Amino acid sequence: MIPVTKTFLPPQEEYNSYVKRAWDKVWLTNRGELTLELEDKLKKYLDVPHITITNNGTIPLQIALKLFGKGGEIITTPFSYVATSAAIVWENCTPVFVDINPEYLTIDETKIEAAITSKTTAILATHVFGNPCHIEAIEAIAKKHNLKVIYDAAHCFGVTYNKQSVFNFGDVSTCSFHATKLFHTGEGGAMFCNDDATQQQLFYSHNFGHNGPLAFHGLGINAKISELQSAMGLALFPYMEHIIAERKKVTDFYNSHLNFENLKSIKIRENTEWNHSYYPLLFESEAVLLKVQEALAEENIIPRRYFYPSLNTITYTNGAEMPVSESIASRVVCLPLYVGLSTIDLEKIVAIINKLTS
Ligand SMILES: *Cc1c(COP(=O)(O)O)cnc(C)c1O
Repeated sequence: MIPVTKTFLPPQEEYNSYVKRAWDKVWLTNRGELTLELEDKLKKYLDVPHITITNNGTIPLQIALKLFGKGGEIITTPFSYVATSAAIVWENCTPVFVDINPEYLTIDETKIEAAITSKTTAILATHVFGNPCHIEAIEAIAKKHNLKVIYDAAHCFGVTYNKQSVFNFGDVSTCSFHATKLFHTGEGGAMFCNDDATQQQLFYSHNFGHNGPLAFHGLGINAKISELQSAMGLALFPYMEHIIAERKKVTDFYNSHLNFENLKSIKIRENTEWNHSYYPLLFESEAVLLKVQEALAEENIIPRRYFYPSLNTITYTNGAEMPVSESIASRVVCLPLYVGLSTIDLEKIVAIINKLTS
């Protein structure tokens, strides 16, 4: 089968050599040496002022919303993975959707102000497929209305915007290290911020609020990553440049071989160094998408409909209609993209798509 993605695994001996360190120390969690080493390596590699790595990529969203959402209305995008909306509802906040830009697929910054009310506390926007939102516009709106900005940057490992990590923007940015993501620890994630006070809040929140073994700063939860997860991250870390370069070759192939007469790919934000995390392709209609999906399935090629459905249509979100997002969600598919995807397979995928859309 040719799936939408295939987890990159480092050589098993290299993973085992890290796991052995946990074994030798009989130390499996609570910020052991592997976790501290991984956090330090990521901090340097990404060039960020603060990072806390976590057990998945959803709980940093929950922590940020707990701290800054305060049960209010959260302005958010309907075009993202369900975790973005679910975290808002889970934290007893109310998602208020703002439609997306049809080219960049990120929240339409020109429509944000109209959605702000006296109950709005924060903006939670997704840099979808690793493509940054209009960061300057969002920052200006947030400043004017005294709102917090949280970025779901789950797809953004290695992305830079204006020559710095995209994780540096917003009050808090989050990332996912899930096995389907670019950099992974099986399950895992991270949260990023710029100032010491926010870092202290994020950090204690991720470890039950502990201030030493006997005292507490405040409310917290268990968002700690384990040493076994960190071992995977450390083993994978040396391969990241290779992974991104190989993925670029695949996206270059699609860009140069697909017939874009009746197809569209995503427009990457200006001043962005992208990470080739996904290859979203937009068809003219859902009918064409379904036809292509069926033809690919006959060859055992299984792309994924990231992201469907538009999150404003999910029962528990009570969203207003979002025509752009609903249209995009009905017509977008992410094509297979992973290290080791062969040229023969790529030619097959492109031939099927071009034949049915030209
Ligand atoms: C993967 C993903 C998440 C959740 O990350 P997990 O590590 O699976 O909890 C959140 N938001 C987006 C946009 C994602 O794609």
